[in-house]
Amino acid sequence: MDSEHCIDISYLTMKVTAKGKAVFANRHFDAHSFIIEFRGKIYTMEEYKKRLNPNNNHYLQISENLFLGPTRTPDNYINHSCNPNAGIKIIGNSVLLFAIRNIHKGDEITFDYSTTMAEDYWEMNCRCGSKNCRGKIRDFKYLPPALQEKYIRLGVVPEFVLRHSRQYLQIAI
Ligand SMILES: [Zn+2]
Repeated sequence: MDSEHCIDISYLTMKVTAKGKAVFANRHFDAHSFIIEFRGKIYTMEEYKKRLNPNNNHYLQISENLFLGPTRTPDNYINHSCNPNAGIKIIGNSVLLFAIRNIHKGDEITFDYSTTMAEDYWEMNCRCGSKNCRGKIRDFKYLPPALQEKYIRLGVVPEFVLRHSRQYLQIAI
């Protein structure tokens, strides 16, 4: 393991798996409980597009035009899953990850990257291995309506994503 990147905070552990770096729960998290805050330098959409490595994207969209850049803390290494156990809420200026179901000690922590994507730019093939894997990570507006509704009900779709997606959604929000 690359010790430089092996930053543990007491209740999260970063490990290198066959899929690459991943973050695991070191204790139980109840559904709806707070996990970690996302941090990082803020970049504009234009800066993001210049810096992005399409195969290794560690930028997180936080508004129509702003992205959080890479960090070396566990928030940077939380992988996408099409069947995630966590989701992002933006409260004020804070970007926070919450459990969306019970997470057991030893589980990998994941969120669905599409829930924070309203960029019309980056897409990636998904190999998350979930039974319901969509095969592609792309903007929220392209998710199946039932899944959009599920994430909206869970409160893990930031307002800017809803605004951007509204005209494409088939569900009432
Ligand atoms: Zn997937």
